[in-house]
Amino acid sequence: MKGLKLKTGALCLEFANTADWHGSAHPQEKLQTYRDLVLWAQRIRLLTEQDTEKLLAEAERHPIDAQTALERAIALREAIYRIFSAIAHHRPPKISDLALLNELLSRALAQLQLKPTPEGFGWAWVERAEALDWMLWPIVRSTADLLTSSDLSRVKECADDRGCGWLFVDMSKNRSRRWCDMESCGNVAKARRHYQRKRVKQAPR
Ligand SMILES: [Zn+2]
Repeated sequence: MKGLKLKTGALCLEFANTADWHGSAHPQEKLQTYRDLVLWAQRIRLLTEQDTEKLLAEAERHPIDAQTALERAIALREAIYRIFSAIAHHRPPKISDLALLNELLSRALAQLQLKPTPEGFGWAWVERAEALDWMLWPIVRSTADLLTSSDLSRVKECADDRGCGWLFVDMSKNRSRRWCDMESCGNVAKARRHYQRKRVKQAPR
């Protein structure tokens, strides 16, 4: 999809990173409510302001459906995290995670249609504002696209050993990116190396 604001190089990984410390025993949930999910999608420009308003109004009318949509979103996100984390560490993903993905994929792809564009034709999503989980469809498709693309071998998990768990596509020329962000985990690792070197230097003989 064009126009998305992504830090990770792929919509599905951006979604996987909506929990902090995913690689630790105590992940921090950033999507506490259905509203959090919708506002996240708006922030990365997956939803327009108009979509956002419509979905939030619909969620207010159908709170149970909104809760179900949030639970489906989290189940999908956890499957995406486990699949790409496994791949980043050269392990096969779990069959049950792939099964969930395939189930959602058949639902998502049924919502695609062809639309004329100035250059020819393009894929477009059927507009169904009443479906509270429709923002998951492009995420499911992005997961399938990344899994079948040559960029799959570039998927990495932040090398932070505290369990940051952030996933990204390493687009650096020599595939040398290790951290989610040099400003956070990269700096922590640098400071720690510096501290250890100093300790080695100063250690009494
Ligand atoms: Zn990190």
